[in-house]
Amino acid sequence: MKRAYNFGAGPSAIPTEVLEEAQKELLDYNGSGISIMEASHRSKMYDEVHNGAIAMMRELYEIPEDYEVLFLQGGASLQFAMVPMNLGMGGKVEYANTGSWSKKAIKEAKVQDLNIEIVASSEETAFDRIPENITFGDDADYAYITSNNTIYGTQYRTYPSTKAPLVVDASSDIFSRPVDWSTIDLMFAGAQKNAGPSGVTIVIIKKELLGRVKASVPTILQYKTHAENNSLYNTPPTFGIYILNLIMKWIKNSGGIKAIQKINEEKAALLYGAIDNSNGFYVGHAQKDSRSLMNVSFNIKDKNAELEAALIKRTEESGMIGLKGHRSIGGLRASIYNAVSMDAVKALVELMETFAAENQ
Ligand SMILES: *Cc1c(COP(=O)(O)O)cnc(C)c1O
Repeated sequence: MKRAYNFGAGPSAIPTEVLEEAQKELLDYNGSGISIMEASHRSKMYDEVHNGAIAMMRELYEIPEDYEVLFLQGGASLQFAMVPMNLGMGGKVEYANTGSWSKKAIKEAKVQDLNIEIVASSEETAFDRIPENITFGDDADYAYITSNNTIYGTQYRTYPSTKAPLVVDASSDIFSRPVDWSTIDLMFAGAQKNAGPSGVTIVIIKKELLGRVKASVPTILQYKTHAENNSLYNTPPTFGIYILNLIMKWIKNSGGIKAIQKINEEKAALLYGAIDNSNGFYVGHAQKDSRSLMNVSFNIKDKNAELEAALIKRTEESGMIGLKGHRSIGGLRASIYNAVSMDAVKALVELMETFAAENQ
C-alpha cells in the first residue's frame, strides 16, 4: 500500500495512524462485536466516544466552561443561515468580506432581511489580503469573520476586537493554532478540512447566546435545542464524531495544539520560502502579512496556464494529489492542514524547485 501526499482543500488528509486505528476497530469496536457505526447513539459505547470527543476538544483547544460544544450537520454552509436565524435580533449585523465563503454567509443574512453592514472587504484586490484595521460597531447584534480563506489563502493573525458577539467561521483552520476565547463568541467549522470527515459540523458557542433565539426558528435549527440535548436531539453523525475523537487523540499524542502550530508554521515557511526564492517564477496570491498557514495559493509567472498544468501533472506523477488551484484564481493551491506531514511539504518543495530550474 502506498499513501499519496494529499494536498486537497477538503475533504482532505486524515492522519494515517487515525485511519489505521479506525480500520482495526471497524468490525469489532472494543470487544463489543459490532462497529461503532452500528451502535445506537444512546448506547454506552457511543456515549464514551461522544463525550470523549467533547472533553478532548475542551482540553486541547482550552475551551472555557461557559461555552457549549455542539456537533451538528448541514456543513459550515448551514451555519451561514443558522447564525443570522439565532443571533439576529432586528438590529444591525456586521460582516467582513474576505472571500467566497464570507460572501455566501452574507447572502444568507440577506435572505433573512437583516440590516447588514459590510465593514471591510478585500474584494477589489481579488481577496489577496485581510483588510487592515477592521472596525466593528460595539452595538451590532453580531460581527462576523472568516478566520481562514480557504480559496485565496489568507488568514487572520488575530481577530478584531469588538463588544458585539464575534462569530468566526474557522472551517479551514480550527485546531491549527491556539485561539483567544475572550475575543470569540461563536466559532463554527465543517470538520472535513482540519478536523475529520465530512458530515460533522462543530459549533462552539458562548452559553449566554443560547437564549437569544426567536420562537419562529424551527426547533432543529436552534442552537439551544442541541445544547439542551448534548447534541443528541436527533441522531448525530456518529461515525464522523468517532473519527474526530481519534483525531483529537492524535493531536494530543503529537504534543497538543501548540506543538501542531509550530509544525504548521515550519511547513508554511518552507513552502512560502520556495515561492519567495524562485526569482519570480512562482507568485503567491496572498500579500505576505495575510498569508495563510493552511492554504498556499500561487501561480506561475504571468499566470502561465500551460506551465501550471504541466506542474500539476508532475505532482500527480510524483504521488501528490489535490494541487489544482480553485477555478476562481487558477494556478495551484497546496492545502497543508494539520494532517499533511512535513515530508509531504518537503517533497512538494523539491519538485517545485526542480520544475522552476527546468523552466526558468
Ligand atoms: C469549506 C468551507 C465552507 C463550506 O463548508 P461545507 O461544510 O461544505 O458547507 C465554509 N467556510 C469555509 C471557510 C470553508 O473552507
